[in-house]
Amino acid sequence: MTTTFDQSLRFEDLGLSQPVLQALDMKGYSEPTPIQAQAIPPVLAGRDLMGIAQTGTGKTAAFMLPSIDRLRDADNQTPFKSCRMLVLAPTRELAGQIAQSAKDYGALAGLKVHSIVGGTSVNKDRNKLHRGTDILVATPGRLLDLIDQKAFRLDGVEILVLDEADQMLDLGFIHALRKISELVPAGRQTLFFSATMPGQIKELVGKYCHDPVHVSVTPAATTAERIDQYLFMVQQDEKQALLELVLSERHPVPGSFERVLIFARTKHGCDRVVKKLAQRGIPANAIHGNKSQPQRERALGEFKSAKNPILVATDVAARGIDIPGVSHVINYELPNVPEQYVHRIGRTARAGRDGVAIAFCAEDERAYLKDIRKTTDAEFERLPLPENFRAVVEGVGPTKPPPKQPRQRVQPKPKGGAPAGGKPNRKHPNRKGKPAHAGQGRPGGGQRRNRRRRSANS
Ligand code: AMP
Repeated sequence: MTTTFDQSLRFEDLGLSQPVLQALDMKGYSEPTPIQAQAIPPVLAGRDLMGIAQTGTGKTAAFMLPSIDRLRDADNQTPFKSCRMLVLAPTRELAGQIAQSAKDYGALAGLKVHSIVGGTSVNKDRNKLHRGTDILVATPGRLLDLIDQKAFRLDGVEILVLDEADQMLDLGFIHALRKISELVPAGRQTLFFSATMPGQIKELVGKYCHDPVHVSVTPAATTAERIDQYLFMVQQDEKQALLELVLSERHPVPGSFERVLIFARTKHGCDRVVKKLAQRGIPANAIHGNKSQPQRERALGEFKSAKNPILVATDVAARGIDIPGVSHVINYELPNVPEQYVHRIGRTARAGRDGVAIAFCAEDERAYLKDIRKTTDAEFERLPLPENFRAVVEGVGPTKPPPKQPRQRVQPKPKGGAPAGGKPNRKHPNRKGKPAHAGQGRPGGGQRRNRRRRSANS
């Protein structure tokens, strides 16, 4: 069954309780997002649910709000060494964000919320879960550790949520999920969320859900509408120099930098980019699986507060990060799975804002680009490389901005003749507005929609 969505719905119309409505009011949310409007009524009615939705659509509240009400209504005791609602998330960051939402939304409902993730002290987790909790948000690995140690059981679970299920599969959590599904009571409610719906996910849904209601807010693998997508065709060995020029605004790109999230394919690749940027006087943080939990938290914290607004990430680490104000996503290396491209660029254009995605495509990545175009219908506007770029890469010449480029926002600070030196303008006057280049002769010019339709001539 698929639900229809009534655009005029308000939270009050969805059957939520007063404490939850009050918590929403405190958060300043007045209207449900489409996934919330579709999901809340059936979840409140106790149905299982399969939701196709990316991060940024409001899906956390879509499962958390009605679940809080169901937990309140059932009024069961908090089970010893167990939980009433279990939310599984693929990454530590996402688990932390979901737990925070649960605390916010459940503030007046009197429910205990905990989260457990890898990379932190197991003993602390054992202690904090000894008396049980109402809502537990966990990454699968850490949860199984505690279960194996007999420090936690799943027999109290009334509601099971699998969030970003496709990512959990990508990360190899399939065995953990199977094991967990065997340990939860058969009569629990299951809420399943995934950004994409590959065959394996369909199979899992068939196994774990009972007659689920299907809701969907974006067709799988459709690129967000508000993101302008650009493309540099650039050789592999030129990418670092191009990145430095772009970030220091010596080679301006559309949009005003607020926060820039850069994707590399490997952990090592992330570190290399960060190190080389640092050598050019451009501070950036890396976030990936080899970083300790405190390092990851610090990098995210600095990105969030814009203390350091450049973050270089692998797919896994960045998945589910919900940080408003990511103005640019730079695909330093293209992902080999088109859906991953959708996830990556979905980090920008959040909360109704516009965003810019820039792909650096080398000759040997053309096949990936083709796949991305085919799967997502994305249309890229090609951007020119700096005029004397090869000379810059080889360290024999300073770069000049290409002709007819709009203003230079940050004065270059060359270091001993080095091509790049500055960092993104952190106090940009255009923070809340549209990209600074809109209608100001951005490369390619023209209207936004037209630009999106125009293909790169690569
Ligand atoms: P999510 O997709 O759950 O990661 O949510 C994306 C962002 O939207 C989060 O920052 C939420 O706090 C925010 N959000 C969720 N629901 C609403 C709503 N109904 N109105 C405004 N913002 C919301």
